[in-house]
Amino acid sequence: MKNWMSEGESSLVTEVFRERSFIDDLVGDFATGHVRYSTEGGSSEENAQPLKSTNQGIEYIVSHNGNITNYKELRNNLESKGAIFRTSTDTEVILHLIAHSQKQDIQDKVLDALRQIEGAYSVVITAVDHNHKQRMMFVGRDPHGFRPLCIGVLEGKRVFASESYALHLMGAKYDREVNPGELISINQNGHMCDDIEIDFKGIISPCIFEKIYFARPDSVLFGENNDVAYFRRAIGRQLAEESPVEADIVIDVPDSGRFAALGYAEKSGIPYNQGLVRSHYAGRTFIEPSQIMRHDGVKIKLSAVRSVLNGKRVIVVDDSIVRSTTTSLLRDIIIEDGGAKEVHFRISSPSVIHPCYYGMDFPTGTELIASSCGNVNMINRNIRSDSLAYLSLDRLRHCYEPDVRYCEACFSGQYPAPTPK
Ligand code: SF4
Repeated sequence: MKNWMSEGESSLVTEVFRERSFIDDLVGDFATGHVRYSTEGGSSEENAQPLKSTNQGIEYIVSHNGNITNYKELRNNLESKGAIFRTSTDTEVILHLIAHSQKQDIQDKVLDALRQIEGAYSVVITAVDHNHKQRMMFVGRDPHGFRPLCIGVLEGKRVFASESYALHLMGAKYDREVNPGELISINQNGHMCDDIEIDFKGIISPCIFEKIYFARPDSVLFGENNDVAYFRRAIGRQLAEESPVEADIVIDVPDSGRFAALGYAEKSGIPYNQGLVRSHYAGRTFIEPSQIMRHDGVKIKLSAVRSVLNGKRVIVVDDSIVRSTTTSLLRDIIIEDGGAKEVHFRISSPSVIHPCYYGMDFPTGTELIASSCGNVNMINRNIRSDSLAYLSLDRLRHCYEPDVRYCEACFSGQYPAPTPK
């Protein structure tokens, strides 16, 4: 197993893998990759995944998406038994729990570890048993199914990815979602055993924010019938019905606001246009680790199209306001650089008032603009827009597929799984 990591604070995958021959030269039965989005523990090099550790001749390699809510208790307990941690990421407890398990079989050790974890995890764990020349891969999802994880087939072999778009990119065929609470094992001959039960207690509650903001629009999440773009268009239509305003054009905040803006334009009859252009060399501002990087990131990332905005009353559709950084800078870019006459923000999600403990990086109440400002009028004053409206939770729920319950805790404060003590 070779491990490549980015040398800088953060880099694009294409910058790390400059030479394609790196990948072409790989030999072996299994391969895993991970793009770190730091929630617990910073974006330091030692926290880069996959994490690797060896215990009793078995090498374990783990990649994890989500956030383990009982991480601190588990870590304290393991440290009191002599475990030495080398990272500050919650993911490392998985390796220690496997190593400390009293079970004999590798699969039982993995199950034993996952059954002690609370919170959100979609994981891929590879185990290489050098003594018995045995190699296994385990793929699992927490019983709530907070984070997506899907299965595809490529030339008769199984591939797994967070989003179905990644399967498409490599030419694999989408098969299904890994079920909440399911563990899948695959041996070195490609034999797959699925539906191994981690734990089926609790409410299935996939993260609605994945659909509102995080996922690519062309992905299908949580085994649903329609792609993310379909959902975003629907919430845009609901927003137009709920919060109309007189204006000349509807624009989006690229790229995650695009389909909601199209839905808003469809329903309101106000023409859609592209008033902001996004530099594709800049990452998402929301996940930059420091406040300064976020602030500069907005200016680098977005610029106004003056021929579209000049003299217009503009409706700007965005997916969310977490910290007000992006929104108030956007208002300046649209008015000062673009020459717009009025700016009306329409947000295609309810206001984010509560922190997320399950793997989305808006951790503290004071950092959340909707939580610190108290009400919509105050937020509107803070970002200096002509008007501001959020989609209500009721209207958001109109767009859910039948019989699906999502986690909505960052809007409602109703957490479906234990939160950190
Ligand atoms: S709290 Fe919000 S962001 Fe976190 S899992 Fe729930 S819906 Fe998603």
